[in-house]
Order: sequence, then C-alpha cells, then structure tokens
Amino acid sequence: MSRAELKPPTAAGRMIGVLDLQGGVFEHLDHMERLGVAVRPVKKAEDFQGLAGLILPGGESTCLARLLQIFGIDKVIIRKFHEGMKLWGTCAGAILLAKFLAGEAPHLGLIDIEVERNGFGSQLDSFVSEASIPRLSPTPIPLTFIRAPKILSVGMGVDVLLRIGDFIAAAESSGVLVTIFHPELTPSLAFHRYFARKCGLRPGGEKTAIDPPWDKTSWMRFARITPLERRSAEPLAKGCPQAIDHENPEGI
Ligand code: GLN
Repeated sequence: MSRAELKPPTAAGRMIGVLDLQGGVFEHLDHMERLGVAVRPVKKAEDFQGLAGLILPGGESTCLARLLQIFGIDKVIIRKFHEGMKLWGTCAGAILLAKFLAGEAPHLGLIDIEVERNGFGSQLDSFVSEASIPRLSPTPIPLTFIRAPKILSVGMGVDVLLRIGDFIAAAESSGVLVTIFHPELTPSLAFHRYFARKCGLRPGGEKTAIDPPWDKTSWMRFARITPLERRSAEPLAKGCPQAIDHENPEGI
C-alpha cells in the first residue's frame, strides 16, 4: 500500500452544516456563528457541498431516522463521512450515529458505542448539571440533559471525554464526536469550538468557554418566530433561510 493510501481522508470543506430535518437546529447555528465559523442548515444532498463537518442535532431519533431514509440523506452522510467529513451528534444525533442501540436496530452506525435511548426516564426526568473537561475548557462546562440517552460502553478507537457515575456522557473517535447533552442550549461554546477544531477549522471568539452576551433567546434570530426588532439588529448567518413573520407571512 502506498503512503498516500495510508493517509486518513480529509474533507476539503471550510463550513459546518447542521442537519435541518427536525430538532434543535437554530441553536447550533447560533453557537457556530458566535465563533465566527461559517455554518449552514443542511436539508438536501446539494447542501453537503463544502462541508468540513456536520452536526446531527437533538430531537427525536425515530423521526430523524425516518426522514433521513425518506430523503436518502442517510446514504449521503455515510458517503461524506468516508470522504473525511467529521460528525457530531448531540443527544438524538448521538443515537443516530451509534453502532449499537440497546434493544433496537442501529441507524447510521458510524461510531463504536452502545447507547440506551431514554436512559434516565421520561421528559420529566430531564436535568442540568456541570462537569470539568480539561481537554475542552479550563472552567466547568454546563450540561443540559433532555430525555437523554446513556452511552453504556465504547469500543476500540473511541475515547471517553466525560464519564459520570455509571454512564458515559461524551465520547469521540477520530471522525465522530457524540454528546448525550445539549451544549447548544447553554452559554458554553467549548464543545462547538472543539468540534470546529476537529473539522480542521479555526474558530475565533472569546477564549473563555462561556459566552457572556448569550441568552436563552439568542437563537431566535435564525427562527421563523424572530421578532422584527431583533431581526434587524442581528444579521442572519450566510446561507440561512430568511425569517418569516407569521403575522405577516407575505411580507406586506
Ligand atoms: N429521547 C430522544 C430520542 O430517543 C432524544 C432526546 C433529545 O435529543 N434531547 O430520540
């Protein structure tokens, strides 16, 4: 085998995509934009062009898996991954990427982990916490778990980034990052910065893990429910769909 064949594939892209079929898309767009990283929502095969990495957001994995299949996006993700595109799954996204699902058939199967869906119970058993992950941040990182899965075990080639009690909360292989919590719902940019670097990009922004101007509605400037005054104050990221004013959908 020649040297060139031994080299791991690298994606040529300079942009990060957020899978936009269902779930928490805007919050991820917002966090990447805060780091000055070019980001776009991804719905169709054409949207994958130029991507260094793709975020599979939290939401409902059964619904997401069905939509991935219906639109044939599952095959595109697998192909792009083998061409070097990095992947990050948050919560439902991590479920989609797992090679093994307790009691269920796996979906994309791109990282050697075993996951148990709804591992903490129902939506009412959602909780917040924080943890120190020195590899990512000198200060503790806030964690938000929403009807989260548990990562039960990891296989060869997968590093544990965060273990809490009897479960694993974050792990990574060379091409895939998984978190069972939602960094995009907190002011912390640490995981977004980490993933951007994993994709070979150079995220900017403050050096601190916490973004002081962030508030719980920051993501709304990407959303269709964006209030008018906010929309004019904060420009949309390149490639994002224009916001629609539901009270005046025709823009009259
Ligand atoms: N419980 C959801 C599922 O099984 C995941 C929840 C989430 O993404 N916050 O898909």
